[in-house]
Amino acid sequence: MSDFKGKLIVFSAPSGSGKTTIVRHLLKQEKLNLEFSISATSREPRGLEKHREDYYFISLREFKDKIKTDAFLEWEEVYRDNFYGTLKSEVERIWKLKKHVIFDIDVVGGLRIKKKYPEKTLAVFVKPPSVDELKIRLKKRSTESEDKINMRVAKASVELATAPQFDKIIKNYELKVALKEAEVLVHDFLELK
Ligand code: 5GP
Repeated sequence: MSDFKGKLIVFSAPSGSGKTTIVRHLLKQEKLNLEFSISATSREPRGLEKHREDYYFISLREFKDKIKTDAFLEWEEVYRDNFYGTLKSEVERIWKLKKHVIFDIDVVGGLRIKKKYPEKTLAVFVKPPSVDELKIRLKKRSTESEDKINMRVAKASVELATAPQFDKIIKNYELKVALKEAEVLVHDFLELK
């Protein structure tokens, strides 16, 4: 029998903090044996995003049906009418591959996963230098309208207040440092040699 014990690595942060960059970097580290948890969302694809790679892009109606049938481990209306959630089947898919699951999800979802699997989960909060810097980064990304950027920035202050509830906080002031710190945290949590 396999003695593989699947773990959950959660990265949460306000939008624009750089958590996606950190998660992508970790996924490249073969030694960590991680697989990205593809969330379901009712929002439209942005830029070059692909269905089944970045997200399972589904309709609002389909999303609500899945809530009814209890298909989600956690879900959240992160922004108005933009639903995001982790399907239970996604975690099962990854554990079957004998890999650890890495999540790029909002703070509420991240803390829910930690609560459901306290021992198996490492919950990391990625902290941006400031809310002003967040706004600059979101503008540079230029994938969203001014309105949407303002909505994300307004939410950031509330999200920042949840940081102390996470197992670890990474300050993403200088990307190179943050990437290394993230690698070490995950490596230690997985008790790799
Ligand atoms: P974006 O629209 O920028 O891709 O994501 C918006 C926010 O939703 C981000 O904070 C992202 O991490 C979060 N998010 C993505 N997937 C999930 C999920 O499955 N559950 C929850 N709760 N949040 C998610």
